[in-house]
Amino acid sequence: MSLEAAQQLDAADPLASKRQLFELPAQTIYLNGNSLGPVTKAAKERLQAVVDLQWGNDLISSWNKHHWIDLPASTGHKIAPLLGAKTSEVICCDSVSINLFKLLSAALAELNQRSPQTKVTLVSQQDNFPTDLYIAEGFTELLGQERIELCVVEESELHAAIENQPAILLLTQVNFRTGAVHDIEAITRLAHQRDCLVIWDLSHSVGVMPLQLDQWQADYAVGCGYKYLNGGPGAPAFAYVNESLQSSLQQPLQGWMGHKAPFDFSPGYQADTGINRLQCGTPPILSMSALDAALDCFEGLAVHDLYAKASRLSETFMDSLRSNGAADSLQLISPRDPSERGAQLGFSHEAAYPISRALAEQGVITDFRSPDILRLGFSPLFLSYAECWQAGAILAQTVTEKLYLEQRFSVKNKVT
Ligand SMILES: *Cc1c(COP(=O)(O)O)cnc(C)c1O
Repeated sequence: MSLEAAQQLDAADPLASKRQLFELPAQTIYLNGNSLGPVTKAAKERLQAVVDLQWGNDLISSWNKHHWIDLPASTGHKIAPLLGAKTSEVICCDSVSINLFKLLSAALAELNQRSPQTKVTLVSQQDNFPTDLYIAEGFTELLGQERIELCVVEESELHAAIENQPAILLLTQVNFRTGAVHDIEAITRLAHQRDCLVIWDLSHSVGVMPLQLDQWQADYAVGCGYKYLNGGPGAPAFAYVNESLQSSLQQPLQGWMGHKAPFDFSPGYQADTGINRLQCGTPPILSMSALDAALDCFEGLAVHDLYAKASRLSETFMDSLRSNGAADSLQLISPRDPSERGAQLGFSHEAAYPISRALAEQGVITDFRSPDILRLGFSPLFLSYAECWQAGAILAQTVTEKLYLEQRFSVKNKVT
């Protein structure tokens, strides 16, 4: 391939016009949309309107007049088609970490109803995203060994770990370091054969991986609003619960927004129906409005096409690295076959951190993941093939000419 060939792909790209929906700084190739999606024009305009007209003018009446109270449900409705879910199965609320706690509780309550007095195993994977493991640890410590035991294993040991007793499987579809993808359908089928429930973390999936949660008979899922959904820093997350698990759904963070009549102010908790009982406290209207507006960028798009473009963008990048003579200087830790990875690539290199800083100085934004991983995300809504080609060439030059050795590139920031 060549830069010209990449430009030809851009000319024929039906998604190319989507770039106009975003505001990105000039001279920047943003390969970090998997960590923090860029701002959309729609979100900017919406925030302005919410501040000036709604909060600024209509004040508290906005809860009714501008339907703030319905925003967790209506934002969830926009996420549902990206998951292959019904609108009644998705709610926007809280962070991924908090939603994980709620769904772990829900899954445990469900298993306890099915087989009372039986101890449950909570199984997760050693290289899962740390917050998932930390929440799992805190959850099992709270409840004690008699009720639930945490079992964190290597990926190759997952099947064996759900062999013996009722288990909750807590997995992330796209590995945050390598991008390797789990087969949700196959794992769910196996888990159900063994009386297990599965909670999927879709943080690095939603908005780019084609998902069919209902068709795959998934149980529970969570995911992030600020990565491929471009909802803004700290945007609220979402939770999915399969319809078949909703009538018995219980979770302990019984805040008033999950109550069936919050404005009755009655002293006892009575859960609302369905997915709404996953809500806890007052929704963050500013950040949820930004996410809600950003989600309109997905209207009319097939996630399949987004994934196909993301795969091709990452292959264009790989071709560029090879053509520019750097394929051997960096160790690819992602699956070589694009169909086996998410919309990201990871490379290990002892100087991964200074390399990421040196790239940033040249306008190529990537991230570093401890201890030695350079990570690049290929968001299909705003990246072009030519940019991915150029980014490959810049990385190749940075590595082969050791441009990262300058002292200033080794100074660590608080957030990497
Ligand atoms: C980004 C990410 C999170 C973030 O969790 P928050 O509680 O929203 O900060 C969780 N899990 C995975 C797999 C992620 O990639």
